[in-house]
Amino acid sequence: RHSPALATEKAKDLVAMAAVRAVHANPVRIQTTDVDDGALVIGGGLAGMTAALTLANLGHPVTLVERENRLGGQLHNVGFTVETPDPQTRAEQLAAQVSHHDRITVHLGATLASFSGVGGRFRAAIQTAAGERVPVSAGAVIVATGGHEAQVREYLYGEDTRVLLQGDLSRALSGGEETLAQSPFASARNLVMIQCAGSRDENRPYCSRICCTQAVKNAIRLKELKPEANIFILYRDIRTFGMHELLYRQARDKGVVFIRYELPDKPKVEPAADGLAVRVTDATLNETVLLQADAVVLSTGIAPNANAELAQLLGVPLDSDGFFQEQHPKMRPLNFMKPGMYLCGLAHGPHFIRETIAQAQGAAMRAAAYLAEKQRASKLTRVGVNKRLCSFCGLCVSACPYGARVMDYEERVARVLDELCQGCGICAVTCPNKATQQYTFEHKAVLAEVDAAALGL
Ligand SMILES: Cc1cc2nc3c(=O)[nH]c(=O)nc-3n(C[C@H](O)[C@H](O)[C@H](O)COP(=O)(O)OP(=O)(O)OC[C@H]3O[C@@H](n4cnc5c(N)ncnc54)[C@H](O)[C@@H]3O)c2cc1C
Ligand code: SF4
Ligand code: SF4
Ligand code: SF4
Repeated sequence: RHSPALATEKAKDLVAMAAVRAVHANPVRIQTTDVDDGALVIGGGLAGMTAALTLANLGHPVTLVERENRLGGQLHNVGFTVETPDPQTRAEQLAAQVSHHDRITVHLGATLASFSGVGGRFRAAIQTAAGERVPVSAGAVIVATGGHEAQVREYLYGEDTRVLLQGDLSRALSGGEETLAQSPFASARNLVMIQCAGSRDENRPYCSRICCTQAVKNAIRLKELKPEANIFILYRDIRTFGMHELLYRQARDKGVVFIRYELPDKPKVEPAADGLAVRVTDATLNETVLLQADAVVLSTGIAPNANAELAQLLGVPLDSDGFFQEQHPKMRPLNFMKPGMYLCGLAHGPHFIRETIAQAQGAAMRAAAYLAEKQRASKLTRVGVNKRLCSFCGLCVSACPYGARVMDYEERVARVLDELCQGCGICAVTCPNKATQQYTFEHKAVLAEVDAAALGL
């Protein structure tokens, strides 16, 4: 503003740069690909069934693959929850809706045998229970392969039958006095729960979110059925977040005793003459407390399923805890890096039932939006390869952060998977032979621009 002559010079340079760039510009080639209408859902638990129903109700054909012989996943094991009193019935109702839906094809006892293609045109083969390979075409894929209650090797679990998991207690309490009477907890008067068992340590550093609420909910139900029971919850932090905090207060009002311990001073469980002896250092009083227990219940949290093989087949990443990793938790939650691929439920991490439902519906809506485009156009900024210059060195394949470069061993040339290319240009910069060129940023045009800026027209 204060140097009009300099500003005019700069403006002239910019115009000159744009003009030479236009001279060297090549026509932009836009490729379009047809998008398949259908979706493939892997996993038939709450997340997979909810996603499949949402998509099918929007008019999309869905293929659902479940490796077990029934739908429902963890809903069959949860016992009861605060918001879903009878998860088993819910699982059966959903399974019936899914199985009878005109647009959903369910493969039980089946797994994914092969997978290829790009967003809008995925090709997969399903290995069915009968040993057949069924080909599937899908425009979008939803991964909903779930998780499970973690197992531990501490506190005598697996060695002493009086040491059990929260899942065992939930199932024992799910049918009221009747199921409790037939369970290992039938005669337990003194019960000690240990929170964060095998969790939030160097082996499994994350918090499973659900197990504090699960413990408090089980304690309240047990107190209602057996008011004379003495219940102690040994915890590091009570994470009954949101409205679940009210349950924590309710448990305290009912006489459940909470004792805080700290790492590395974990509670110790030993067999004793009158049951089990649990020794814990109360971190608030800084005193050792000795508890006599008829049963010890461990809150072990949720662990990921063995996802590595499936992740490799699908070409999607796992996080450091072994769950599937979304592209970005804030900017692109529920999306994988690969376009047209989404995730939800315990496959993504520990979630309550209502969170799993919300995620599954969210993933399905994203997939539906993706499938709504009948054709997809490739990006203007993508890259191309000059076959004559490519020396087949493979540097571009290792450089691409999006897995969009592959080696074509038949023609001995590196190729670009247009659907995956984000146009970042890293491979174009990496290529030692200038065989990779980024359309709209060709070397010739960029160098001419630099010349125009430095030397004038
Ligand atoms: C021990 C425990 C206690 C819980 N307690 C509560 C609670 O008190 N309150 C609450 O709100 N929520 C609770 N939850 C969470 C709730 O159960 C989940 O949010 C929900 O059930 C998760 O559903 P999902 O479909 O994501 O996973 P899952 O139920 O695990 O379903 C995944 C499905 O995918 C299938 N599968 C896995 N791999 C493959 C493969 N490669 N190919 C094909 N199929 C595959 C599995 O067989 C399974 O059927 C608890 C969970 C657990 C584990
Ligand atoms: S929810 Fe509670 S018991 Fe579970 S890992 Fe987190 S803090 Fe520990
Ligand atoms: S880096 Fe360049 S020369 Fe090497 S394989 Fe890739 S495109 Fe070919
Ligand atoms: S431009 Fe970026 S995303 Fe596209 S192929 Fe090259 S490195 Fe991969």
